[in-house]
Amino acid sequence: MINSFFGSSSGERKFKKRRRQLVDKLRDRGIHDENVLKAIGNVPRHKFVETALEDRAYKDTALPIERGQTISQPYTVAYQTQLLEVEEGDKILEIGTGSGYQAAILCEMGARVYSVERIKHLYDRSRDILEELGYRAQLKCDDGTVGWSAYSPYDGILVTAAAPEVPDKLKHQLNVGGILVVPVGDNDRQIMMRVIRTDEERFETERYNAFKFVPLIGEEGWKE
Ligand code: SAH
Repeated sequence: MINSFFGSSSGERKFKKRRRQLVDKLRDRGIHDENVLKAIGNVPRHKFVETALEDRAYKDTALPIERGQTISQPYTVAYQTQLLEVEEGDKILEIGTGSGYQAAILCEMGARVYSVERIKHLYDRSRDILEELGYRAQLKCDDGTVGWSAYSPYDGILVTAAAPEVPDKLKHQLNVGGILVVPVGDNDRQIMMRVIRTDEERFETERYNAFKFVPLIGEEGWKE
């Protein structure tokens, strides 16, 4: 009992230190939104990967999760979240729950989080871990390319898989002033796009850096 208690608390200390180092690295790479950095410093990323990969959880790399999917690289998570300009109380929709890590980051920032995942097994796993850690995100197992109309409009929508083009239905589930962040491109490379709804029928599109995500599969994504 006592040994395992000390064992786990020194483990937690080790992870906490690594999280601080990761935050420093992200700051060096140009992430400047202090709320994003604080969330990355607080969310235990090692809980969102399998035990065998725990030790690599605070390296700035993507890692495999089940069903051939990945937990995005911390830099990518920070980059997308920063573009989303999240404020406390914002209603945010994420497409591609995956491990649940990005959803936890958004919860940690005080957002009201909705997240859709198409693979049932990942949906089940992320629901369990988010609940265990006390993060309250609303999750749904479905095709997220058509959004989640029951709770729209959103202040922000974040797509964490590669889309062939900007999904039209997602744009229309934004509030005026709302922001959609989505990687758009082919299988090998995508450009991070940011779409801002400037009024009912007007959208402004900005293009950012190139990334590589797993494909977004569904009605307004790639066909299976
Ligand atoms: N945000 C995740 C990254 C997961 S990778 C994390 O923090 O771990 C992208 C995820 O998008 C995969 O789990 C994949 O199954 C999911 N996905 C792909 N197409 C989807 C769709 N149409 N709707 C919902 N999820 C989708």
